[in-house]
Amino acid sequence: MSRFLAKRYEALEPYTPGEQPRDQQYIKLNTNESPYPPSDGVLAAVRGAEAELLNRYPDPDARALTAALADRYGLAPENVFVSNGSDDILNFCFMALCPDGVRFPEVSYGFYPVYANLHRVAWDTAPVNEGLAFAPGAFCRIGKTAVLANPNAQTGIALARAEIAAIAASNPDHPVIVDEAYVDFGAESAVPLVREYGNVLVVQTFSKSRCLAGARLGFALGSADLIADLRRLQYATNPYNLNRLTQAAGVAALADQAYYDDRAREIQATREETRRGLEALGFTCTPSLANFLLARTPDMAGGELYRRLKARGILVRHFSDEKLEDWVRITIGTPLQMEALLRETAALLGREGAIPCE
Ligand code: PMP
Repeated sequence: MSRFLAKRYEALEPYTPGEQPRDQQYIKLNTNESPYPPSDGVLAAVRGAEAELLNRYPDPDARALTAALADRYGLAPENVFVSNGSDDILNFCFMALCPDGVRFPEVSYGFYPVYANLHRVAWDTAPVNEGLAFAPGAFCRIGKTAVLANPNAQTGIALARAEIAAIAASNPDHPVIVDEAYVDFGAESAVPLVREYGNVLVVQTFSKSRCLAGARLGFALGSADLIADLRRLQYATNPYNLNRLTQAAGVAALADQAYYDDRAREIQATREETRRGLEALGFTCTPSLANFLLARTPDMAGGELYRRLKARGILVRHFSDEKLEDWVRITIGTPLQMEALLRETAALLGREGAIPCE
């Protein structure tokens, strides 16, 4: 820390992203990326004409991309905001849309408390039960902003659209921000609620189901007023928030929807195969509808399993928070990668005979 840092940031705890190791090739199942490459259309778009225009600033309103998203979700361009990853949008939400404080689940995306602390927003949490689920009622009539990841981060447990609608209806004077980073892997989206409830803001990303984590592209869908607030913050911080290549990649990805739908279906099928394999090895998994499983075994502590898998070339995620320390979070990769995970896990636990699919 330099002597120049403003006092208010001295105690700021930053977010710790998942490892991005450079030292060796791992089977990388730790940051919920897609194991599949972007579609051919996306690759062609980023190699094409836009690359030759990199001497020019991009369109700050990303009009082509905004229109394509509006079209895809049946909304108007005034209902769509795009930015440099959904983290960027969540940052704006905590910065400006939590005037009376914010509540999020006790177990959820680790960035929420970081943003709340960064922007000095008072926060509290909805408790989770033994199975790491929270009661949706804990978000009704709260008198502050609600931030919900749906499916929830780390657990993959999802609320039904009707439950989100009840939360929105009971908090008419506060935003209900639904972070749908993982929604395309089997959960119900709250996007249809955007027309009905002016306080619902849905935040999504191209990082997971659209195989573009490296391009950094997120978007929000909401009432024209909420979207105008986000645009105001964009123009107050970084008007050129989305580079040309990412804008072109986004448009091309939306044109290749069938490719991404197929990949999402494949990941769901692999998730269920992997769940069966882990359960056969004695693991318990949360009922995840995301592109990851949160799993634990009575035979080995979460941290130990993480370290021993890493030593065998497989990277999963372990969180040291009290509620999560027994668990590991395993991103769903290709079927071959998941076979390797099950094989190595079985070997570590001395349960070689227990893998059903071999
Ligand atoms: N929300 C949740 C719940 C996430 O898990 C992530 C990914 N770590 C994000 C948002 C951020 O996604 P991105 O910034 O890549 O769009």
